[in-house]
Amino acid sequence: MNVERSPSSLRNHITNVMVQPLKIGVIGGGLGGLAAACVLAARGHRVVLFEKNAWMGGKAAVLEEAGYRFDMGPTILTIPEVLRRIFAEAGRSLDDELDLVRLDPQWRCFYEDGAVLDLQANVDQMASTLERFSPGSSAGYRSFLTFSERMHSISDRFFFWKSVGGLRDMIDFKAGFQPKMLADILAMRMGRSVAGTVRKYVPEPRIAQMLDHFTQYVGSSPAGSPAVLCGIAHMQTAEGIWYPRGGTRAVPQALTRLAEDLGVDLRPGTGVRRLLVEGRRVTGLETDAGENIAFDRIVSNADSVRTHAELLDPQSPPAKRFRKRRTYEPACSGVVLYLGLDRAYDHLLHHNFVFSRDPEAEFHAIYQNGEPAPDPTCYVCAPARTEPEVAPAGGEALYVLVHAPYLRPHHVWKEMYPAYRQVILDKLARCAAMPDLESRIRFESYLTPQDIHDRYHVLDGAIYGLASHGKWVGAFKPANRSRDLEGLYLAGGSAHPGPGMPMALMSGWIAADTLDRDAPTNSLTPRPASPTMAGR
Ligand SMILES: Cc1cc2nc3c(=O)[nH]c(=O)nc-3n(C[C@H](O)[C@H](O)[C@H](O)COP(=O)(O)OP(=O)(O)OC[C@H]3O[C@@H](n4cnc5c(N)ncnc54)[C@H](O)[C@@H]3O)c2cc1C
Repeated sequence: MNVERSPSSLRNHITNVMVQPLKIGVIGGGLGGLAAACVLAARGHRVVLFEKNAWMGGKAAVLEEAGYRFDMGPTILTIPEVLRRIFAEAGRSLDDELDLVRLDPQWRCFYEDGAVLDLQANVDQMASTLERFSPGSSAGYRSFLTFSERMHSISDRFFFWKSVGGLRDMIDFKAGFQPKMLADILAMRMGRSVAGTVRKYVPEPRIAQMLDHFTQYVGSSPAGSPAVLCGIAHMQTAEGIWYPRGGTRAVPQALTRLAEDLGVDLRPGTGVRRLLVEGRRVTGLETDAGENIAFDRIVSNADSVRTHAELLDPQSPPAKRFRKRRTYEPACSGVVLYLGLDRAYDHLLHHNFVFSRDPEAEFHAIYQNGEPAPDPTCYVCAPARTEPEVAPAGGEALYVLVHAPYLRPHHVWKEMYPAYRQVILDKLARCAAMPDLESRIRFESYLTPQDIHDRYHVLDGAIYGLASHGKWVGAFKPANRSRDLEGLYLAGGSAHPGPGMPMALMSGWIAADTLDRDAPTNSLTPRPASPTMAGR
């Protein structure tokens, strides 16, 4: 049966396209799963979303207690254009759904030697700041940003908004060889790392440490990540850092409202334990309660490695094919402290990094040795700077995140946590001018890598899906259209294009768009070309 897409009140931009609506199961209600569900429903498909937890949003969860409100997971929102694109699918404007506040300076950096440096979006202002901070460093910064802009542009053209699992998916070979393409590939400096590239432009160690830190957005070592990830710096400089009023939690809340409006059948508290497969095709799923439900297509927002290892029979051909293609390493995990304080700290910005003394030693501990860094970098979020309502009057809902290795068998965080908590609090007291911090705590909670693993059902406690390690293939994650099982699509931080709020959301959009384009249709008008960030 052919029906016209979308109820007229929610008609998306693709009008007059006739499709066979498919029955689609989405596993997981993280940002990627919610985004995929909304896009598919906006395009006229019937969607049921299964979420193991009682809440929607996955890691983008909230903790509200004793008058304090903490975003439990992501706090830094970049590239809101991705969200705009998802709401536009349903004819909605992002500005009506979320109140986004731009934050600039973007981060405040505290160093062990007492120096303080603000990261500013405006390149000229930043260059002047750097000249004062370390005379002679601004020219290198400008050159680094020019390189970063090129990487951003290459990502837009070849990497974003389509299902990519490797280099050959990036390039349209049918369009024929173009010299510009070769220039782009060479510019990517495949085989070079972020750390090496940053230092080529900016040798000053403290500025290099700041620029290295963009790889922490993907939970990976700057020394092990490919140079193309230098593009993240320009993405943030050009498109800004944003705070949704109500916290980052407002993002999944807005998506959940949209999904409900579009008729998605949301089933929180319903885990999925198995994919049903016939021949080479997925035909449905089995819930934890033992209910078998047939679907035309499945989108898995569960970790992509665990989807293949646990939701499929590990000895089945698709599971074996996935395993054989490549070994994926989990990204880093983290320890998060939620500290309800009876005072605020005026010298903090909304986002702050309190850097380690020796970044090489820090990253070596986390990413090579697989042990917590003895002197870690602490990311500190002070949201009352922007929204005082997160804490009782005059207080602060301080959030502290320290990256930690993904779980190893000998990590017993119940035993490790108390000593590590003290390392973190001492570091903040010493390097971020908060000597009275401990005495100002009125409420306290925390997550260890083990808690993150258990709560969000991730791979070995990873907070950013799969690591981007490997100077040649590190940027590639499993493609959104499964190569191993027909009818299976992957969305979320452990699928292409990777982790972080904007990328997980884009991943959901790509999974939905790819599925929709693969679906049998009777198009009266051609589908629109996929958007590129640069083209809008
Ligand atoms: C502490 C922390 C800080 C972070 N900081 C930032 C930040 O500042 N900025 C940023 O951009 N990103 C940040 N991130 C990363 C960001 O949160 C993630 O990349 C993003 O939210 C992942 O979205 P996802 O779509 O992969 O879904 P997830 O959030 O991983 O959700 C997947 C969902 O699938 C469900 N699920 C799994 N298996 C099943 C099953 N079998 N059946 C049913 N449901 C299942 C899970 O319960 C979960 O709810 C942070 C993450 C953490 C944890």
